[in-house]
Amino acid sequence: MTRLIDLRSDTVTRPTAGMREAMMSAPLGDDVLGDDPSVHHLQEKIAVMLGFEAALFMPTGTQSNLCGILAHCQRGDEYIVGQKAHTYLWEGGGAAVFGSVQPQPLNHQADGSLSLDDIEAAIKPDDAHFARTRLLTLENTLGGKLMPSSYIEQATQFAHSRGLSTHLDGARLFNAAVAQASLNGTDPRTEAKNIASCFDSVSVCFSKGLGTPVGSALCGSKEFIYRAHRVRKMAGGGLRQGGLLAAAASYALDHHIDRLADDHLLMRELASGISDIPGVHIESPQTNILFVELSGSARERAAGLLDYLRARGILTTGLYRLRFVTHLDVDAAGIEQAIQAIRDYFMS
Ligand SMILES: *Cc1c(COP(=O)(O)O)cnc(C)c1O
Repeated sequence: MTRLIDLRSDTVTRPTAGMREAMMSAPLGDDVLGDDPSVHHLQEKIAVMLGFEAALFMPTGTQSNLCGILAHCQRGDEYIVGQKAHTYLWEGGGAAVFGSVQPQPLNHQADGSLSLDDIEAAIKPDDAHFARTRLLTLENTLGGKLMPSSYIEQATQFAHSRGLSTHLDGARLFNAAVAQASLNGTDPRTEAKNIASCFDSVSVCFSKGLGTPVGSALCGSKEFIYRAHRVRKMAGGGLRQGGLLAAAASYALDHHIDRLADDHLLMRELASGISDIPGVHIESPQTNILFVELSGSARERAAGLLDYLRARGILTTGLYRLRFVTHLDVDAAGIEQAIQAIRDYFMS
């Protein structure tokens, strides 16, 4: 049986032996009663790391973003968001469904950013015809792209100057931080804190590249987290012996941040290993996600690719636009195997 190389997502990782050990030895309580020490430890750790007063452990990133938006906005408010942002496109319309908060989606610029002019034009005057514009949400990384720090500073300063709050969907904040750190020759923790410091609230996932089985955190001021805690209760997100999972997240923050650079390196290797195939178009990857557009003869042959790759032990998703993601459970040999299989398919 061939070894399976699962490049569908960085959510597929299994907890490492060290992480399992940390989970099994975590001191536990009942977090809904407020006395799980491992949850408290994680919340304090991530809040301090990202420069916030407080944090709240969440079952998922979707719930974390939902609680964040609903802690910023009331019924009849709106948030400005990118068309492709997770908080608009990929969360079932939760803010509208559960919170009566309407999204105001904007088209992205080529680099994934939202233009300040578009943001400005979308901010509604105080008039009974309109929803009250309350919040700007950004995402970093977006589709594996690092948002330039100068842009994040400008956009959040602009939003604040217009009276809006700001929320970052930083599901892959630490991937962004590691990419930024390698550009600046700095420490990823410094970069994560710098990015986070532009926002009133940040949501970060532990279950993506950081490699935990479950969990996210929402960070913000004490008062904001107090409100988010009430929403989390309503959403059914109170976890009793949550410390079992929080311990995995604390372990990941100690051991799995710097190694994200390995995922980024392997992704560059995958990209360069297939970039010369006719009809295969890639943008050089900045983090651990690669999108591959197929045209011409490659596009004509696209239909059989996923099954072929599966038979060669490689899992991925997409059709004419394929997505590959590297993570903790993918190594150099796996990437080599993937490159070979993709080349064999298109070039035989
Ligand atoms: C994965 C992800 C989330 C949240 O995902 P869950 O599966 O709910 O944990 C939010 N935003 C982005 C950008 C993501 O990639």
